[in-house]
Amino acid sequence: MVCIICKNPMVYYFSKTFTEFDLTNVDYYKCSNCGFVASKTHSMMSVENWESLNFKAHSYYNSIDNNPNNQPPPYMEQALMLHIMRKHEIIPSENWLDWGSGEAKLAKILYHWFDQKLTCFDKYIEPEINPLRGGVPSGFKYDVIINSAVFEHVTVRATLDEINDCVSEKGVLAIHTLVREEIPSDKDWFYLLPVHCSFHTNKSMDILFKEWGYKSSTYCPNAKMWMFFKFKKGQIADKVNDINKMIGFKYLFLKDGFMDYWK
Ligand SMILES: [Zn+2]
Repeated sequence: MVCIICKNPMVYYFSKTFTEFDLTNVDYYKCSNCGFVASKTHSMMSVENWESLNFKAHSYYNSIDNNPNNQPPPYMEQALMLHIMRKHEIIPSENWLDWGSGEAKLAKILYHWFDQKLTCFDKYIEPEINPLRGGVPSGFKYDVIINSAVFEHVTVRATLDEINDCVSEKGVLAIHTLVREEIPSDKDWFYLLPVHCSFHTNKSMDILFKEWGYKSSTYCPNAKMWMFFKFKKGQIADKVNDINKMIGFKYLFLKDGFMDYWK
């Protein structure tokens, strides 16, 4: 098995047995270079089986309230962060796309409370507002690309590149996924869900970040969201300081390179 991030060999790491959604034994492999961990079991599934697993899991999680194993992303906090960054002209004010939007929960919050239009695209679920049917037209770019809880579901590099390819020249990329210094080989780790197959490290994200040509990034712990920029941090450092000062604590963390917040 080869790492989809840095193309180095991956070695067997550990296994977990699931009892849900007809999934049984899952083998996790770890990249010898960047520490990225992926499920070999998921990567070998047929497209039909992978879609069926996602559908079953999604229907089940949506049918029960307060599932501790499936906390939704903090959409309200993400909307607020995007709004603040837009107001301070750190990110472009329009031409926004949520790639992998699900039902469009973030778009609804932005529309109802922040007067912001967010176009929604999802390969598997019909968004309830602002749907972009048929995907991003070839060559079309967006100035703000958001993906919330997508990266941990991706099995091939082409999908990650497909997301980044939608970002315009002056555009930014916003990401919500779990990133750690090291992925634990613990089968009881809360993040090992039946539909999670990719686990990113600070090093693997830094490799992607550089390959995609980004220069600086912010992380907002409240929103649990990164923002990748194609310019050095000096261009927005004063604005980020203003925001942090006004709020009264370090709301945004900024650095050149990938902001490795979770050590
Ligand atoms: Zn790697």
